[in-house]
Amino acid sequence: MNLYDTIVAISTPPGRGGLGVVRISGRAARSIASSILSPVEWRSWHAHLAQLLDRSQHPIDQVVATWFEAPRSYTGDDVVEISCHGSPVVLRHAVERALEAGARLAEPGEFTLRAFLNGRIDLPQAEAVRDLIDATTLYQARIAAQQASGSVSRRIAPIKEQLLELIALLEAGIDFAEDDVSVAPAAEILRRLDPITHAVRQLAASFQYGGLVRQGLTLAIVGRPNVGKSSLFNRLLEQDRAIVTDIPGTTRDLVSETAAIGGIPVKLYDTAGIRAGTELVESLGIERSYQAMADADLTLVVIDLSQPRDPEDDALIARAASQGRHLVVGNKCDLICDSRPLATGPWFWRAQRATHSPNPQPPTPNPQSHGLFNPAPPVAPPSPNPCLQVSALTGEGIARLREAILESIAPQGALDSETGFITSLRHEELLRESAAYLEKARGAVEASIPHEMLLLDLYAALRPIDAITGATTADDILNRIFSTFCIGK
Ligand code: GDP
Repeated sequence: MNLYDTIVAISTPPGRGGLGVVRISGRAARSIASSILSPVEWRSWHAHLAQLLDRSQHPIDQVVATWFEAPRSYTGDDVVEISCHGSPVVLRHAVERALEAGARLAEPGEFTLRAFLNGRIDLPQAEAVRDLIDATTLYQARIAAQQASGSVSRRIAPIKEQLLELIALLEAGIDFAEDDVSVAPAAEILRRLDPITHAVRQLAASFQYGGLVRQGLTLAIVGRPNVGKSSLFNRLLEQDRAIVTDIPGTTRDLVSETAAIGGIPVKLYDTAGIRAGTELVESLGIERSYQAMADADLTLVVIDLSQPRDPEDDALIARAASQGRHLVVGNKCDLICDSRPLATGPWFWRAQRATHSPNPQPPTPNPQSHGLFNPAPPVAPPSPNPCLQVSALTGEGIARLREAILESIAPQGALDSETGFITSLRHEELLRESAAYLEKARGAVEASIPHEMLLLDLYAALRPIDAITGATTADDILNRIFSTFCIGK
């Protein structure tokens, strides 16, 4: 790929639209644009009204052309953007004419690649441009926009700075030992090294949440037949997508749709009700429910608060717990309101305990309730599953459930600090690699291994960080050595 070529491409999506933009970038951008337009008195960063001409110099569209003079352009090269009407034939013709005038068709992502190579943006910013374009929710777009403006590099910069300081300290101790530059004691090295390792580890761990922000998460809704899974699915989706009936076993296959919860795309799976002793088709559906549970980032185990507790509920909760993140959702709470306590059982007690009272007391039997409460409520919950009370029918508790879904995937504080996490798997892997070398370096300090060897680990820890933010040059380290230490020479 020759980076000195002038490149051209249609920058707007394929298809017809109000506008379509042809972008030309490179040294010859203006002369190529001039050869396909009616005469233009170019002024940088000004929009010019012009005619797009065909090969016989007939106007085929009235356009607005803007010249972004290097280096203050998206790519850092001279850029001309020609805003045409969004007609695919017109746009294609503009590109063909630019090609005839000497431009080359841009490779995918080449405008942003040039921006990176010309130092307009760093690698995380370039990656964020792609995320911004791919965003499906405003929240994702906001995070990507922050990263496109450099938030990841700003977060990594102080960590890298501390690592370079430590490297410079050790290099100076080795190179200038005879010049009275003392060799750093182990305690001093560890005092500097530990916060770096901690910060790198913490940033890598933030991908747990950041990855979900970028890719979205999958959420399986499971439970026995008729507990209200489809109703809850529809409620979270805010549309009637899944069939709701009171006939058990209606949902026999997975039904999936994507909803945004707190700005994160969530792929919801409504699953077949799980029960023992069913016929073939239903049991195949149940197998898929188990599979969906195993594959999901989060499982909602739905129980019916209006029914007596069933051992199958417990078995399902235990299964979900053994597989990872899950929430127990007590549905049909509208049926257990004070005036109409339709059923009894430990779920009610446990639901009350989890959502209302820090010091739980079993409910007192209501004299008006015709003895429907358990005469002897349990004194201790059989297991400590927190249970969120909701009603898929009335919508009660659904806002709280949405919050709980977000809380269960977000590490403490992640939701508040929009810039405090990374969203790229590549960055996570590099940070983990760096942390592994930093830990190796710690072991080397503790084992009193010579600083020359220790430095090898620190340089190895620096390389993956460089792969995120851009390379460190020998000068970066030398400048630090000479500015931080009074060498006296
Ligand atoms: P699924 O088999 O678990 O998917 O359950 P459905 O969503 O099909 O619901 C089964 C029955 O319970 C239907 O008659 C629903 O109208 C009813 N139902 C679902 N959620 C609620 C709720 O929160 N309150 C009440 N009262 N009924 C509900």
